[in-house]
Amino acid sequence: MQQRISTLRNQFQDDLKQVKFSKDVEQLKVKYLGKKGPVQDLMLHLREAPPDERPHLGKVINELKEEFARLCEQALASYADVEQAQQIAQEKIDVTMPGRRRHLGRKHPLSLMMDEMIEILSGMGFSVQYGPDIDSDYYNYEGLNFPPDHPARDMQDTFYITPNMLLRSHTSNTQLRVMETHRPPIRIIAPGTVYRNETISARSHVFFHQIEGLYVDKGVSFADLFATMEEFWSKVFQTKVQMRFRPSYFPFVEPGLEVDIGCMACQQKGCRLCKFTGWLEVAGAGMVHPEVLKNGGIDPEVYSGFAWGLGIERSAMLRYGVNDIRMFTENDLRFLEQV
Ligand SMILES: [Zn+2]
Repeated sequence: MQQRISTLRNQFQDDLKQVKFSKDVEQLKVKYLGKKGPVQDLMLHLREAPPDERPHLGKVINELKEEFARLCEQALASYADVEQAQQIAQEKIDVTMPGRRRHLGRKHPLSLMMDEMIEILSGMGFSVQYGPDIDSDYYNYEGLNFPPDHPARDMQDTFYITPNMLLRSHTSNTQLRVMETHRPPIRIIAPGTVYRNETISARSHVFFHQIEGLYVDKGVSFADLFATMEEFWSKVFQTKVQMRFRPSYFPFVEPGLEVDIGCMACQQKGCRLCKFTGWLEVAGAGMVHPEVLKNGGIDPEVYSGFAWGLGIERSAMLRYGVNDIRMFTENDLRFLEQV
């Protein structure tokens, strides 16, 4: 029995020397101290020993068991430190590794264009007012001098929500609301989204953006409209622009005008941008109709005013050389990142 014990001890010590990782120590522990291991086997064979030797042998076997357990724990502790150090070394951060490129958000070309126009007009003394996207027929049409059967309503195919409520077809719906709540002098702009029931194509969309302008005071004349447009568009395109007004028809202005500026891409010599006319159409405008002033509670005998509406998409297309309005809503990063 003594012989077996000392052989087992030597065997264990040899095995322990072979150990390389903490998981090997765990295996060693199971091998020697497990229920079917040699130490347990010695205990089972204890009854074969002479009775007077049994207490002593039992003590020796127990000591052997404790010795193995202690050695295993010591080995585990020493490996734990080494292995943790190895793990830390493997996981260290390589500060020379190139970083991942992140996409930074930026303003949409239409927001850039609109913000810039608002800034220019604010500098010219116009304050910003907002009207509702969903409005009544009165503010969008009737109050702006469109009678119920007026053909202009066919000109602008409208998204009606109910017979009386609609998605505004122009930012002009803000005009009456401002006149009802403000006394002259009124000098406002109304930026916003407008909606038209049109076929989507390279040149038209079911929604786009406008900036409405309104100036009402005593003695406001056509010359003020001309000067305002000239100053504004020269600032937008950062060059002194040529102006041309053509007669047009909008029910809420009299006279109504189309505002053209000289093509800055070709210096009016004619190019694809201006379709070889030398002129670019940039806004609709006119002197506020007396009926509209009356509807807003303003006496047309005392006051006069001008108004305009311009398209943000149209302006951004001219500014950035975009030839398809649909590109603004397709969310193609290759397009959006160019601006
Ligand atoms: Zn041109």
